[in-house]
Amino acid sequence: SIILGIESSCDETSAAICIDGKICSNIIANQTVHEKFGGVVPELASRAHQQNIIPTVGQAIREAKIHKNDIDAVAFTRGPGLLGSLLVGTSFAKAFALARNIPLIDVNHMQAHILAHFIEAPVPDFPFLCLTVSGGHTQLVLVKDYFQMELVGQTLDDAAGEAFDKTAKILGLPYPGGPLIDRYAQLGNADAFTFPEPQIPGLNFSFSGLKTSILYFVQQREAEQPGFVQNHLNDICASVQARIVSILINKLKRAARENSVADIAIAGGVSANSGLRAAVNKLGEEQGWRIFIPRFEYCTDNAAMIAIAGHYKYFARDFVGQDVAPLARYSL
Ligand code: ATP
Ligand code: MG
Ligand code: FE
Repeated sequence: SIILGIESSCDETSAAICIDGKICSNIIANQTVHEKFGGVVPELASRAHQQNIIPTVGQAIREAKIHKNDIDAVAFTRGPGLLGSLLVGTSFAKAFALARNIPLIDVNHMQAHILAHFIEAPVPDFPFLCLTVSGGHTQLVLVKDYFQMELVGQTLDDAAGEAFDKTAKILGLPYPGGPLIDRYAQLGNADAFTFPEPQIPGLNFSFSGLKTSILYFVQQREAEQPGFVQNHLNDICASVQARIVSILINKLKRAARENSVADIAIAGGVSANSGLRAAVNKLGEEQGWRIFIPRFEYCTDNAAMIAIAGHYKYFARDFVGQDVAPLARYSL
Protein backbone atom coordinates (compact mmCIF):
# COMPACT_ATOMS: atom_id res chain seq x y z
CA SER A 1 0.00 0.00 0.00
CA ILE A 2 1.08 3.59 -0.66
CA ILE A 3 0.36 6.11 2.10
CA LEU A 4 0.69 9.89 1.87
CA GLY A 5 1.50 11.39 5.29
CA ILE A 6 0.83 15.04 6.16
CA GLU A 7 2.21 16.89 9.21
CA SER A 8 1.26 20.50 10.06
CA SER A 9 0.87 20.62 13.86
CA CYS A 10 3.30 23.43 14.62
CA ASP A 11 5.79 25.25 12.40
CA GLU A 12 6.98 22.52 10.02
CA THR A 13 4.99 21.70 6.90
CA SER A 14 5.87 18.14 5.95
CA ALA A 15 4.75 15.45 3.50
CA ALA A 16 6.02 11.88 3.14
CA ILE A 17 5.33 8.80 1.05
CA CYS A 18 5.38 5.35 2.66
CA ILE A 19 5.32 2.32 0.33
CA ASP A 20 4.66 -1.03 2.07
CA GLY A 21 6.11 0.28 5.33
CA LYS A 22 9.18 1.87 3.73
CA ILE A 23 9.63 5.65 3.71
CA CYS A 24 10.41 6.77 0.13
CA SER A 25 10.33 10.54 0.67
CA ASN A 26 10.09 12.91 3.63
CA ILE A 27 9.97 16.60 2.68
CA ILE A 28 10.11 19.17 5.48
CA ALA A 29 9.52 22.88 4.87
CA ASN A 30 10.83 24.80 7.90
CA GLN A 31 9.27 28.16 8.67
CA THR A 32 11.79 30.90 9.30
CA VAL A 33 9.28 33.73 9.89
CA HIS A 34 9.19 32.97 13.64
CA GLU A 35 12.89 33.52 14.37
CA LYS A 36 12.67 37.24 14.95
CA PHE A 37 9.71 36.82 17.34
CA GLY A 38 11.50 34.39 19.67
CA GLY A 39 8.79 31.74 19.31
CA VAL A 40 6.13 30.36 16.97
CA VAL A 41 3.49 32.96 16.01
CA PRO A 42 0.32 30.90 15.35
CA GLU A 43 -1.20 33.24 12.71
CA LEU A 44 2.04 33.29 10.73
CA ALA A 45 2.41 29.52 11.05
CA SER A 46 -1.06 28.89 9.55
CA ARG A 47 -0.33 31.21 6.66
CA ALA A 48 3.04 29.60 5.92
CA HIS A 49 1.43 26.12 6.00
CA GLN A 50 -1.15 27.34 3.50
CA GLN A 51 1.64 28.50 1.18
CA ASN A 52 3.85 25.42 1.65
CA ILE A 53 1.45 22.51 1.68
CA ILE A 54 0.89 21.97 -2.07
CA PRO A 55 4.56 22.35 -3.12
CA THR A 56 5.67 20.10 -0.22
CA VAL A 57 3.24 17.33 -1.16
CA GLY A 58 4.21 17.70 -4.84
CA GLN A 59 7.86 17.27 -4.00
CA ALA A 60 7.18 14.23 -1.78
CA ILE A 61 5.30 12.54 -4.63
CA ARG A 62 8.04 13.35 -7.17
CA GLU A 63 10.86 12.18 -4.92
CA ALA A 64 9.10 8.88 -4.25
CA LYS A 65 8.79 8.45 -8.05
CA ILE A 66 5.09 7.64 -7.90
CA HIS A 67 2.00 9.25 -9.45
CA LYS A 68 -0.62 10.83 -7.21
CA ASN A 69 -3.16 8.30 -8.54
CA ASP A 70 -1.07 5.50 -6.97
CA ILE A 71 -1.75 6.71 -3.41
CA ASP A 72 -4.01 4.32 -1.44
CA ALA A 73 -4.73 6.47 1.65
CA VAL A 74 -3.95 9.84 3.25
CA ALA A 75 -2.79 10.05 6.87
CA PHE A 76 -2.72 13.43 8.61
CA THR A 77 -1.90 14.86 12.04
CA ARG A 78 -5.20 15.46 13.83
CA GLY A 79 -3.56 16.85 16.98
CA PRO A 80 -2.27 17.90 19.43
CA GLY A 81 -0.93 21.21 18.14
CA LEU A 82 -1.89 24.70 17.03
CA LEU A 83 -5.46 24.61 15.74
CA GLY A 84 -4.85 26.97 12.80
CA SER A 85 -1.85 24.90 11.73
CA LEU A 86 -3.68 21.59 12.12
CA LEU A 87 -6.61 22.91 10.05
CA VAL A 88 -4.39 23.39 6.99
CA GLY A 89 -3.12 19.79 6.98
CA THR A 90 -6.52 18.37 7.92
CA SER A 91 -8.36 20.28 5.19
CA PHE A 92 -5.76 19.32 2.61
CA ALA A 93 -5.95 15.64 3.57
CA LYS A 94 -9.75 15.63 3.47
CA ALA A 95 -9.85 17.32 0.08
CA PHE A 96 -7.23 14.94 -1.35
CA ALA A 97 -9.03 11.86 -0.01
CA LEU A 98 -12.39 13.11 -1.27
CA ALA A 99 -11.09 13.94 -4.74
CA ARG A 100 -9.28 10.61 -5.10
CA ASN A 101 -12.00 8.61 -3.28
CA ILE A 102 -9.45 6.98 -0.94
CA PRO A 103 -9.51 6.40 2.85
CA LEU A 104 -8.59 9.11 5.34
CA ILE A 105 -6.51 8.20 8.42
CA ASP A 106 -6.18 10.43 11.50
CA VAL A 107 -2.93 10.30 13.47
CA ASN A 108 -2.07 11.46 17.00
CA HIS A 109 1.15 13.49 16.74
CA MET A 110 2.56 12.21 20.06
CA GLN A 111 1.88 8.58 19.06
CA ALA A 112 3.58 9.31 15.74
CA HIS A 113 6.73 10.64 17.46
CA ILE A 114 6.95 7.20 19.15
CA LEU A 115 6.06 5.24 16.00
CA ALA A 116 9.03 6.91 14.27
CA HIS A 117 10.92 3.97 15.83
CA PHE A 118 9.28 1.63 13.32
CA ILE A 119 10.60 3.47 10.25
CA GLU A 120 13.97 1.71 10.31
CA ALA A 121 15.53 -1.37 11.94
CA PRO A 122 16.42 -2.12 14.68
CA VAL A 123 12.92 -1.74 16.17
CA PRO A 124 12.04 -2.15 19.88
CA ASP A 125 9.93 -5.07 21.15
CA PHE A 126 6.60 -4.45 22.91
CA PRO A 127 6.23 -3.49 25.67
CA PHE A 128 8.88 -0.80 25.67
CA LEU A 129 9.30 2.49 27.45
CA CYS A 130 9.56 5.72 25.46
CA LEU A 131 10.68 9.10 26.76
CA THR A 132 9.08 11.61 24.38
CA VAL A 133 10.74 15.00 24.73
CA SER A 134 9.65 17.77 22.39
CA GLY A 135 8.80 21.45 22.20
CA GLY A 136 5.40 21.02 23.83
CA HIS A 137 5.59 17.69 25.69
CA THR A 138 7.67 15.63 28.09
CA GLN A 139 6.15 12.19 28.50
CA LEU A 140 7.12 8.76 29.77
CA VAL A 141 5.04 6.28 27.81
CA LEU A 142 4.66 2.54 28.24
CA VAL A 143 4.13 1.33 24.66
CA LYS A 144 2.20 -1.94 24.68
CA ASP A 145 1.33 -2.04 20.99
CA TYR A 146 1.32 0.30 17.99
CA PHE A 147 -1.70 2.23 19.22
CA GLN A 148 -1.90 1.03 22.81
CA MET A 149 0.12 3.48 24.86
CA GLU A 150 -0.04 4.30 28.57
CA LEU A 151 1.18 7.63 29.92
CA VAL A 152 3.14 6.85 33.12
CA GLY A 153 4.72 10.27 33.71
CA GLN A 154 4.68 13.78 32.28
CA THR A 155 5.76 17.34 32.94
CA LEU A 156 3.74 19.39 35.41
CA ASP A 157 4.75 22.67 33.74
CA ASP A 158 7.26 23.36 30.93
CA ALA A 159 8.35 20.75 28.39
CA ALA A 160 12.03 19.81 28.09
CA GLY A 161 12.25 21.52 24.69
CA GLU A 162 10.70 24.62 26.24
CA ALA A 163 13.37 24.52 28.98
CA PHE A 164 16.03 24.55 26.27
CA ASP A 165 14.30 27.28 24.25
CA LYS A 166 13.54 29.52 27.25
CA THR A 167 17.12 29.17 28.53
CA ALA A 168 18.35 30.18 25.09
CA LYS A 169 16.11 33.24 25.20
CA ILE A 170 17.51 34.23 28.62
CA LEU A 171 21.01 33.85 27.16
CA GLY A 172 20.09 36.07 24.20
CA LEU A 173 20.12 33.28 21.62
CA PRO A 174 17.59 33.10 18.74
CA TYR A 175 14.60 30.71 18.54
CA PRO A 176 14.64 27.71 18.55
CA GLY A 177 17.57 27.70 20.94
CA GLY A 178 17.74 23.96 21.74
CA PRO A 179 20.12 23.07 18.88
CA LEU A 180 22.33 26.11 19.69
CA ILE A 181 22.63 25.20 23.37
CA ASP A 182 23.59 21.69 22.26
CA ARG A 183 26.33 23.09 20.01
CA TYR A 184 27.80 25.46 22.66
CA ALA A 185 27.50 22.78 25.36
CA GLN A 186 29.86 20.54 23.40
CA LEU A 187 32.57 23.21 23.85
CA GLY A 188 31.93 23.83 27.55
CA ASN A 189 32.48 22.34 31.01
CA ALA A 190 29.29 20.84 32.46
CA ASP A 191 30.67 21.10 36.03
CA ALA A 192 31.33 24.85 35.78
CA PHE A 193 27.98 25.83 37.34
CA THR A 194 25.36 23.90 39.28
CA PHE A 195 21.63 24.31 38.73
CA PRO A 196 19.07 22.71 41.07
CA GLU A 197 17.31 19.41 40.44
CA PRO A 198 13.59 19.69 41.36
CA GLN A 199 12.22 17.15 43.84
CA ILE A 200 9.06 15.94 42.09
CA PRO A 201 7.45 12.73 43.37
CA GLY A 202 6.80 9.73 41.12
CA LEU A 203 7.50 9.78 37.41
CA ASN A 204 6.51 13.38 36.70
CA PHE A 205 8.81 16.22 35.68
CA SER A 206 9.10 19.95 36.33
CA PHE A 207 11.26 22.46 34.48
CA SER A 208 9.86 25.86 35.46
CA GLY A 209 11.97 26.12 38.64
CA LEU A 210 15.12 25.47 36.64
CA LYS A 211 14.19 28.23 34.21
CA THR A 212 13.71 30.69 37.08
CA SER A 213 17.02 29.73 38.70
CA ILE A 214 18.83 30.27 35.38
CA LEU A 215 17.19 33.69 35.02
CA TYR A 216 18.30 34.76 38.54
CA PHE A 217 21.77 33.32 37.99
CA VAL A 218 22.22 35.30 34.77
CA GLN A 219 20.83 38.54 36.22
CA GLN A 220 23.03 38.32 39.32
CA ARG A 221 26.25 37.43 37.49
CA GLU A 222 25.68 40.08 34.80
CA ALA A 223 25.15 42.73 37.52
CA GLU A 224 28.42 41.75 39.21
CA GLN A 225 30.37 41.23 36.01
CA PRO A 226 28.93 42.76 32.81
CA GLY A 227 29.52 40.45 29.82
CA PHE A 228 29.47 37.35 32.04
CA VAL A 229 27.09 35.40 29.79
CA GLN A 230 29.08 36.17 26.64
CA ASN A 231 32.35 35.17 28.33
CA HIS A 232 31.00 31.94 29.81
CA LEU A 233 28.40 30.92 27.21
CA ASN A 234 29.82 27.45 26.54
CA ASP A 235 30.10 26.57 30.24
CA ILE A 236 26.59 27.87 31.02
CA CYS A 237 25.10 25.89 28.12
CA ALA A 238 26.98 22.73 29.15
CA SER A 239 25.86 23.08 32.79
CA VAL A 240 22.20 23.76 31.92
CA GLN A 241 22.10 20.92 29.40
CA ALA A 242 23.66 18.51 31.91
CA ARG A 243 20.92 19.36 34.43
CA ILE A 244 18.05 18.99 31.94
CA VAL A 245 19.53 15.65 30.86
CA SER A 246 19.99 14.41 34.45
CA ILE A 247 16.35 15.26 35.29
CA LEU A 248 15.21 13.23 32.26
CA ILE A 249 17.58 10.30 32.83
CA ASN A 250 16.74 9.86 36.53
CA LYS A 251 13.01 9.52 35.81
CA LEU A 252 13.59 7.34 32.77
CA LYS A 253 15.69 4.94 34.85
CA ARG A 254 13.06 4.79 37.57
CA ALA A 255 10.21 4.25 35.08
CA ALA A 256 12.07 1.40 33.36
CA ARG A 257 12.69 -0.34 36.70
CA GLU A 258 9.13 0.14 37.93
CA ASN A 259 7.66 -1.22 34.71
CA SER A 260 10.27 -3.99 34.28
CA VAL A 261 11.06 -3.15 30.67
CA ALA A 262 14.45 -3.60 29.04
CA ASP A 263 13.79 -1.85 25.71
CA ILE A 264 14.11 1.92 26.09
CA ALA A 265 13.41 4.51 23.41
CA ILE A 266 13.59 8.27 23.14
CA ALA A 267 11.55 10.36 20.70
CA GLY A 268 10.68 13.96 19.83
CA GLY A 269 12.82 16.97 18.93
CA VAL A 270 14.92 16.98 22.10
CA SER A 271 16.06 13.40 21.38
CA ALA A 272 18.29 15.08 18.79
CA ASN A 273 20.30 16.48 21.73
CA SER A 274 23.82 15.02 21.82
CA GLY A 275 24.03 15.13 25.62
CA LEU A 276 20.76 13.22 26.02
CA ARG A 277 21.73 10.67 23.37
CA ALA A 278 25.06 10.00 25.10
CA ALA A 279 23.44 9.77 28.55
CA VAL A 280 20.73 7.35 27.37
CA ASN A 281 23.32 5.14 25.68
CA LYS A 282 25.41 5.13 28.87
CA LEU A 283 22.32 4.20 30.93
CA GLY A 284 21.69 1.29 28.58
CA GLU A 285 25.24 0.02 28.97
CA GLU A 286 25.11 0.29 32.77
CA GLN A 287 21.74 -1.42 33.13
CA GLY A 288 21.93 -3.89 30.24
CA TRP A 289 18.96 -2.26 28.51
CA ARG A 290 18.59 -1.95 24.73
CA ILE A 291 18.45 1.71 23.66
CA PHE A 292 16.60 3.00 20.59
CA ILE A 293 17.16 6.49 19.19
CA PRO A 294 15.60 7.55 15.87
CA ARG A 295 17.68 9.05 13.10
CA PHE A 296 17.89 12.85 13.45
CA GLU A 297 15.35 13.70 10.70
CA TYR A 298 12.75 11.46 12.39
CA CYS A 299 13.20 13.11 15.83
CA THR A 300 11.88 16.60 15.07
CA ASP A 301 8.52 17.13 13.37
CA ASN A 302 8.25 15.18 10.11
CA ALA A 303 5.59 13.48 7.99
CA ALA A 304 7.47 10.17 7.76
CA MET A 305 6.29 9.36 11.29
CA ILE A 306 2.71 10.26 10.28
CA ALA A 307 2.96 8.06 7.17
CA ILE A 308 4.31 5.06 9.13
CA ALA A 309 1.50 5.47 11.69
CA GLY A 310 -0.87 5.61 8.70
CA HIS A 311 0.66 2.41 7.34
CA TYR A 312 -0.22 0.48 10.52
CA LYS A 313 -3.72 1.98 10.69
CA TYR A 314 -4.31 1.15 7.01
CA PHE A 315 -3.47 -2.45 7.83
CA ALA A 316 -6.10 -2.39 10.59
CA ARG A 317 -8.64 -0.60 8.29
CA ASP A 318 -8.82 2.14 10.93
CA PHE A 319 -10.22 5.04 8.89
CA VAL A 320 -12.12 8.26 9.70
CA GLY A 321 -14.98 10.00 7.90
CA GLN A 322 -15.03 13.37 6.15
CA ASP A 323 -16.60 14.92 9.26
CA VAL A 324 -13.34 14.56 11.24
CA ALA A 325 -12.00 17.76 12.87
CA PRO A 326 -8.54 18.57 14.28
CA LEU A 327 -7.97 18.67 18.04
CA ALA A 328 -5.60 21.18 19.69
CA ARG A 329 -5.54 18.90 22.74
CA TYR A 330 -5.48 15.18 22.03
CA SER A 331 -4.34 12.62 24.59
CA LEU A 332 -2.37 9.49 23.69
P1 ATP B 1 5.22 18.72 20.19
O1 ATP B 1 5.75 17.54 19.47
O2 ATP B 1 5.23 18.56 21.68
O3 ATP B 1 3.92 19.19 19.67
P2 ATP B 1 7.10 20.26 18.67
O4 ATP B 1 6.52 19.49 17.56
O5 ATP B 1 7.28 21.73 18.50
O6 ATP B 1 6.26 19.96 19.97
P3 ATP B 1 9.51 18.95 18.04
O7 ATP B 1 9.54 19.55 16.69
O8 ATP B 1 9.39 17.50 18.18
O9 ATP B 1 8.49 19.67 19.02
O10 ATP B 1 10.85 19.43 18.80
C1 ATP B 1 11.22 20.79 18.80
C2 ATP B 1 11.96 21.04 20.08
O11 ATP B 1 13.18 20.27 20.10
C3 ATP B 1 12.37 22.49 20.27
O12 ATP B 1 12.10 22.86 21.61
C4 ATP B 1 13.87 22.47 20.01
O13 ATP B 1 14.59 23.46 20.70
C5 ATP B 1 14.23 21.10 20.52
N1 ATP B 1 15.49 20.60 19.96
C6 ATP B 1 15.78 20.28 18.68
N2 ATP B 1 17.06 19.89 18.55
C7 ATP B 1 17.62 19.98 19.80
C8 ATP B 1 18.91 19.70 20.35
N3 ATP B 1 19.91 19.28 19.58
N4 ATP B 1 19.09 19.92 21.66
C9 ATP B 1 18.07 20.33 22.45
N5 ATP B 1 16.85 20.61 22.01
C10 ATP B 1 16.61 20.43 20.70
MG1 MG C 1 8.54 22.08 15.61
FE1 FE D 1 6.40 17.31 17.54
